[in-house]
Amino acid sequence: MKSSKTCHRIVLAGEEGCRVLYCEDCKVAELEIGAMSLRLETHAFESLAVMMRQAEQRLALAKAARLEERFNARSGNVH
Ligand SMILES: [Zn+2]
Repeated sequence: MKSSKTCHRIVLAGEEGCRVLYCEDCKVAELEIGAMSLRLETHAFESLAVMMRQAEQRLALAKAARLEERFNARSGNVH
């Protein structure tokens, strides 16, 4: 007897505990974070990736703005 379907999952990124797997049979990306696992269809995964990239950029901008504020406040005290 043959099993009807075997999943061939490949690791796209990360390592044990926090990684992204992809099942070529199901066409599903799997996001593993600790005990949590999120299965996403390819297009949903791509949307998530775009969203994460945007969030990361905004966070970097927010950090830069805060540093600038602190810098301006400090130079303001000097004068
Ligand atoms: Zn599968």
